[in-house]
Amino acid sequence: MNEKIQWLLVDLNSFFASCEQQDNPLLRGKPVAVVPMITDSTSVIAASYEAKICGIKTGTRVSDAKKMCPGIHFIAGGHKKYIEYHHQIIDAIDEICPVEKVLSIDEMACRLIGRECEIENAIVIAQKIKKNIIDKVGVCMTTSVGLGPNVLIAKIASDMMKPNGLVSIPKEKISEILGPLDIDVIPGVGKNNKYKLNSKGFYKVQDLMNISEHELRRAWGSIWGLRVGLELQGQDIELKKNETRSYSHEHVLSPDLRNTQGAYQILAKLLFKGAGRVRKNLKSISALGVYVRYLDHTCFEKSIQFQPSNDTTFLLNELKKMYPFMTNKKPVKVGVIMGGLSSANDHQFSFFDNPKNERMNKAMDIINEKFGANTLISGSFLNVTQHAKVKIAFNHIPTKDDEF
Ligand SMILES: [Mg+2]
Repeated sequence: MNEKIQWLLVDLNSFFASCEQQDNPLLRGKPVAVVPMITDSTSVIAASYEAKICGIKTGTRVSDAKKMCPGIHFIAGGHKKYIEYHHQIIDAIDEICPVEKVLSIDEMACRLIGRECEIENAIVIAQKIKKNIIDKVGVCMTTSVGLGPNVLIAKIASDMMKPNGLVSIPKEKISEILGPLDIDVIPGVGKNNKYKLNSKGFYKVQDLMNISEHELRRAWGSIWGLRVGLELQGQDIELKKNETRSYSHEHVLSPDLRNTQGAYQILAKLLFKGAGRVRKNLKSISALGVYVRYLDHTCFEKSIQFQPSNDTTFLLNELKKMYPFMTNKKPVKVGVIMGGLSSANDHQFSFFDNPKNERMNKAMDIINEKFGANTLISGSFLNVTQHAKVKIAFNHIPTKDDEF
């Protein structure tokens, strides 16, 4: 077997309820529901495994829970206690393998390296972590551990066997194991997203695998879908600093800009800003995607491909060509994604790049760097310089030059 695993994700089972059972041995083996306060009018925050068997879950109303499970114990939650357990759990995992990401109060992920990635070794590490949490934190602290090529797949794996599971999904097995499953096994696909995806013809995980970037964005109606799509293919797009593969910026329009021109100007500004970042990192892009979300929940999306370029004028022209000026709809949010990144030195001379523009871009970058980012700007968005302090999507750590 030479299958490799890159990430290990630990998910505590019924965490809040387990903490309560750990603290009070009289509650062990009994149905327990953690609630914000003891009253019939509230809902359950967390249910113990024994309560889950009766059908009680997060969100079940207390009055219903009493009917479904006579004799259930209600406990008012104590966050301080849960945070203490959270830290003890991290310490117990760290003793076996360093925690790289804390995803929530009851989910932690470790990146495996070297020989740890061999599947047999990864499984041994997972078993040791499970045991160490029980030994050091307490017998009620059972976990489901998922192993996978990235955090998303590891998370799905951890969800597949509860309680006390250990499931591994190596990259080679993703489509076999996950392909036939309903799309709501993907974290983040709740009722609404599922309905939306179904209405576009996506039902199974395999429907979202091996489709184009454009199709992915169409499926999800957002650039988040692109990331999920790549992760479902097993890519580990946990990016290290300066290893960005695409730049994306989005912006919710303020009420005064919720019109065709206002949205266009913000897009131009995001693109101008993005092109500057691309050049600063000595990169070029070969794909540009734009989307506009409207008040009526429809979305305009278009992406184009071209020879590598980082020329602001060229990109702004392309935006102008693809932007939907002829619409009466009210835009509420816009976004750009710049993909197909390559090193600016990798291409000699692009058909699109005009040497004059290159000199202008350089001058613009130098001046903006020296005197502040608003010193030299494009006429397309003169009216909106106070808007769109760039909010960056999933893969960018803000730097000084983002204070646009
Ligand atoms: Mg959990």
